[in-house]
Amino acid sequence: MIDLYAEIIINSDAIEIDRPFTYKVKQDQEEIIQIGHRVKVPFGRGNRLVEGFVLGLKCEGIENIKGIKSIMDIQDQDPILTRDDLKLIDFLRDTYLCKYIDAIRTIIPVGLMSGLTNKKKIVLHFNKELDCGYDKKENYVKLISYIKENDGELTKSDLTKSNLFTVYTINKAIKEGFLKACEKIVYRYNTRIYDEDVKNNLNEEQLGAFNQILNSQSKGFVLKGVTGSGKTEVYMNLVSKVLMEGKSAIMLVPEIALTPQMIERFKGRFGKNVALFHSKLSPGERYDEWFRIKKGEASLVVGARSAIFLPLNNLGLIIVDEEHENTYKSEHNPKYSTKEVAKFLSNLKGCKYILGSATPSIETYFEAQNGELELIEIKNRVRNRPLPVMEIVDMREELKCGNLSILSRKLYHSIDETLKKREQIIIFLNRRGFSTFVSCRSCGYVFKCPECDISMTYHKNGYLVCHFCGRSQKEEKICPKCGSKYVKFFGAGTEKAQVEIKKYFPSARILRMDVDTTRAKDSHEKIYNSFKNGEADILIGTQMVSKGLDFKNVTLVGILAADISLNIPDYRSRERTYQIITQVAGRAGRGDKNGKVVVQTYTPNNVSLKYAMENNYDDLYKEEIKIRSIMKYPPFSTIFLIGAQSKNEDTLKEFMRTLSGQLSKLLVDEKELELLGPNPCIITKIKDNYRWQIIIKGFLELELKKNIKDILYQLTKNVYNEIRVSMDINPNNMS
Ligand code: ADP
Ligand code: ZN
Ligand code: ZN
Repeated sequence: MIDLYAEIIINSDAIEIDRPFTYKVKQDQEEIIQIGHRVKVPFGRGNRLVEGFVLGLKCEGIENIKGIKSIMDIQDQDPILTRDDLKLIDFLRDTYLCKYIDAIRTIIPVGLMSGLTNKKKIVLHFNKELDCGYDKKENYVKLISYIKENDGELTKSDLTKSNLFTVYTINKAIKEGFLKACEKIVYRYNTRIYDEDVKNNLNEEQLGAFNQILNSQSKGFVLKGVTGSGKTEVYMNLVSKVLMEGKSAIMLVPEIALTPQMIERFKGRFGKNVALFHSKLSPGERYDEWFRIKKGEASLVVGARSAIFLPLNNLGLIIVDEEHENTYKSEHNPKYSTKEVAKFLSNLKGCKYILGSATPSIETYFEAQNGELELIEIKNRVRNRPLPVMEIVDMREELKCGNLSILSRKLYHSIDETLKKREQIIIFLNRRGFSTFVSCRSCGYVFKCPECDISMTYHKNGYLVCHFCGRSQKEEKICPKCGSKYVKFFGAGTEKAQVEIKKYFPSARILRMDVDTTRAKDSHEKIYNSFKNGEADILIGTQMVSKGLDFKNVTLVGILAADISLNIPDYRSRERTYQIITQVAGRAGRGDKNGKVVVQTYTPNNVSLKYAMENNYDDLYKEEIKIRSIMKYPPFSTIFLIGAQSKNEDTLKEFMRTLSGQLSKLLVDEKELELLGPNPCIITKIKDNYRWQIIIKGFLELELKKNIKDILYQLTKNVYNEIRVSMDINPNNMS
């Protein structure tokens, strides 16, 4: 008999044990155990029982056989991880430098390891016919027919709540054998039935896109269609096709675009076959959806980014809608890019993947230009609806005329007019990111780092800092361009906007949709429904109002401060501005009435704005790709960010200097790579933890990345063990 051994990853965050450990498989386990099984094993000197995952099985090549411990227990009947999952784990480790366990936890349902299981309840079924002579017959007849009417099963509490039967009668009926009690799994996912979603016949452009994707030999596609061009309808038709072939599909949308409307459409079209997956699900709901998918009871997933990891069988299609959205990048370990994972899975499973957007990201469009992705365009809105009319307002002129309010005269009058016509308005204020850039209200000048072409950030100590290269300079009170003293940094959020607008339009009914008003579970849906039903005239909001909303009666969109996104300290700010303005503007004029958009800005000549007004993506792209190439930003490099945190600033600085020294040595022959920093992060301190960063710019080979990871592990393991480090490839923001 040959002995069998298992390679096991221990469920622990400790960096030191981020490697497989060998365990002996007991004889009675040999028949059962498979790669991917979750097991219990004794670990460490105390032989504490811990959970682990079997990543490999082998018979030979075992060292130190004497000291080897045995697997205690196999946790589940079927393996949790598949062979493909193991490849995915390797991909995540190599690409994002995460630990084994981080990759595993990303793939399996949260809650599994904290002991979550199915939720069960006891239901009563009809068991045997009444015999005629029975004297309490009438009661039982009522009871049994009541249960039959209610899907043939009810819990005891359902029955007593009906106030028709007493506990005594129910218990007696069980005892006499008329009813039978059984255990039943309660599903914690959304089982609501939705109205059927009426299918639109695809128009010519949509049909063209649909056929091109179906018939092409390519694996990856960019579907570039203007807002309201009916991309979702194309997706749904493709999904139908895939499901009919007996395959499954993943449809990803950014969390904020997973609106009640989107859910209604998919649930209404595909019914029970759809699983929903997003961050507002409870661990129980996630657990149930995960196993429902694993069992093949749902073959379409509509969800936010983490849904890419769901265990669909026989995957036939991956759709990433609004692919330009930055929420497709995870901010937790592994800090994966959903699009990269989609591409990997498409290769692994041999299925197609589609990146859809009205405003593709520069990197994606670059791939399309290179031929790595096939470009498909839809240039017109459905039913040939016109795109909204875009108007720009120069807020410097407003200031000159003594208007200091957040509403320009044009936007004020447009709101007034729209209210009179009883049409609806969306007001957008991009409050996210850091409104700490400094600009001149008189001429629009913004302080930027001359080295990096990135807005400098205002610090309370009176300095302006570039968080990319670390350059800093003293704040200036007077504009270097025009000499005005209206040099200010930006503030004001949606709440303040609501108060101000209410002041001007006291009888208008106003709703606000932002992080603060949508915290409770159904609040998002309530706001959405009430606006849809015409119970409000104006909807004010952040990014949440910028996508996924399809209200026919919205004819005016107001963008309060287009400059905010232009000046986030990031090389993507121009691109983001174009995207945001186009997306928000796309909410207007989706019904039969034409739409209008008013964009307020201090920098009306900015090219991103100009191109957004003209719906001119091509020129935006041409200009942007040139800048990226000159400045060596992605796609012409990768930005590798190493972050570190500690409560003790001195130790942190010392650590960063040591690290930087070691990295310089490592990279000494890598002429193409730039090492920037160490610098304090934009947010210098969070929860009493100081934050510093180092950036490596350029393309890094896998070996080099692994060496950097080793240096970090060694340093934090041996000397600086209270410092927390993180690595991020092409981070979303460098804050
Ligand atoms: P996008 O995702 O490109 O913004 P949608 O798929 O949401 O666009 O479509 C916008 C609106 O047009 C939706 O209300 C949708 O029901 C409708 N629609 C889509 N395709 C058609 C079509 N072929 N004919 C008529 N209406 C359509
Ligand atoms: Zn100025
Ligand atoms: Zn700089």
